[in-house]
Amino acid sequence: MKRSTPKATRHVNQNEGLIFEKSSPGKAAWKLPPLDVPEVDTAKLLGSAERKDLGHMPEVSEIEIIRHFTRLSTWNYAIDLGMYPLGSCTMKYNPRVNEAVARVEGIANGHPYQPEKISQGALQIIKTLSEILIEITGLDAITLQPAAGAHGELTGLLIIRAYHKSQGKPRKKILIPDSAHGTNPATAAMAGYSVENLKSNALGMVDVASLELQMNEDVAALMLTNPNTLGVFEQEIHKIADILHAKGGLLYMDGANMNALVGKVRPGDFGVDLMHLNLHKTFSTPHGGGGPGSGPVAVRKVLEPFLPKPVVVTKPDGTLGFDYQRPQSIGRVRAFYGNFGMFVRALAYIQANGPDGLRQTTEDAVLNANYIRKGLEGSYDLPYATPTMHEVVFSDKLQAKKGVRTMDIAKRLIDYGFHPYTTAFPLIVPGALMIEPTESESKEEMDLFVDAMKSIAAEVEEEPQTVLDAPYSTRVSRLDETAAARKPVLRWSPNV
Ligand SMILES: *Cc1c(COP(=O)(O)O)cnc(C)c1O
Repeated sequence: MKRSTPKATRHVNQNEGLIFEKSSPGKAAWKLPPLDVPEVDTAKLLGSAERKDLGHMPEVSEIEIIRHFTRLSTWNYAIDLGMYPLGSCTMKYNPRVNEAVARVEGIANGHPYQPEKISQGALQIIKTLSEILIEITGLDAITLQPAAGAHGELTGLLIIRAYHKSQGKPRKKILIPDSAHGTNPATAAMAGYSVENLKSNALGMVDVASLELQMNEDVAALMLTNPNTLGVFEQEIHKIADILHAKGGLLYMDGANMNALVGKVRPGDFGVDLMHLNLHKTFSTPHGGGGPGSGPVAVRKVLEPFLPKPVVVTKPDGTLGFDYQRPQSIGRVRAFYGNFGMFVRALAYIQANGPDGLRQTTEDAVLNANYIRKGLEGSYDLPYATPTMHEVVFSDKLQAKKGVRTMDIAKRLIDYGFHPYTTAFPLIVPGALMIEPTESESKEEMDLFVDAMKSIAAEVEEEPQTVLDAPYSTRVSRLDETAAARKPVLRWSPNV
């Protein structure tokens, strides 16, 4: 079964030349109802603030503007269109029930300046979600304030700093394995720590002997992703925790990969002192496009006093409220209380699944990653044979012999109707193909994906140029990715 037979010729849309030049004088896409209030002199009312010249606003009819935006929307790729196998990013389906709950009037229209008395429902949502996440992580307390995973890391490191300071021994170093997500060293540096690299062993796990040598009283914490970015569970996690704790260090876990663990094991039980979660990954809230995220940080009891304030508490009269009297708190890390809409969606997802459903989700995510591993073994090089958790990492070693690299394969995958996998991480695998299907995908969709990847491997053998020139099905082909990131053109101006 094939999704399509991708052609190696450029696809041209008949509307290509008409995309942006749609304006013609006098057209409008709006109509105001008849005036039902006394007319006022706007010039008098607005004075110099009145704009007479609206610049070069496009003048288009309703159908033209609708077609314009609808057409643009079809040029995008989304999880609602097909598999989105970005490794480590956990691009899973956002169930519609999450959206239905987030749109309930009382929830959608709540305002953070509303008095506590009439915000009891919202406070209860924060409290319930907090309690559930504490149970899932096996830790003791949590803040929901951070707006994303990297922001959670920063919050965690500020807590680590405050903790060591309170012990009278501020420390200077953070240990980070070479398999870490790029945000980890960046965050540690931003928090003012020096970063020391920790080598992985041949199995793709932390080298415990090196850790033992590198650990000393100057190390504030180890930042560890588990399962790590190879999709490998750190089997010596207890030993790692013991080595850190023996010298007064803390074990921070990057919990962005909790999709492999929820309902099966709890980081608090294997020695983790604090960690962040990505609600926008593991707990299915929308993800991508720069939209709001949520990166709660869960901590052990000894770290609770340092959590950002305010925290939700039950007051003596039994109602919920915010407690600002937290003298050891690191302070606020965000305006208001965090991205509340994401809390609602995550809670809806968790409660719709229930404990057994969440455990099943984890098992399905791991099963799916292993299904893809089996399907592609032989066609692509597998640098670490250690058991696969939620994602599998191949390398382009076999294809590189023909001059085709991971980025070329990813570009060709677009022609087969899939979003590319992750190409740049983990750094310890040169030419990585990092693939995370998540539990959202059916066997049928994964079969299509495996077929597409095998078909590309065959193309590399037979006619590598086809792959090197891909994609053919997109509006633009290969971009200058550095220029696109550094000098983005975000505004269109008419030629006048
Ligand atoms: C996504 C991710 C992060 C960063 O999370 P953001 O929400 O993108 O800031 C950190 N670590 C790992 C392992 C991740 O996958």
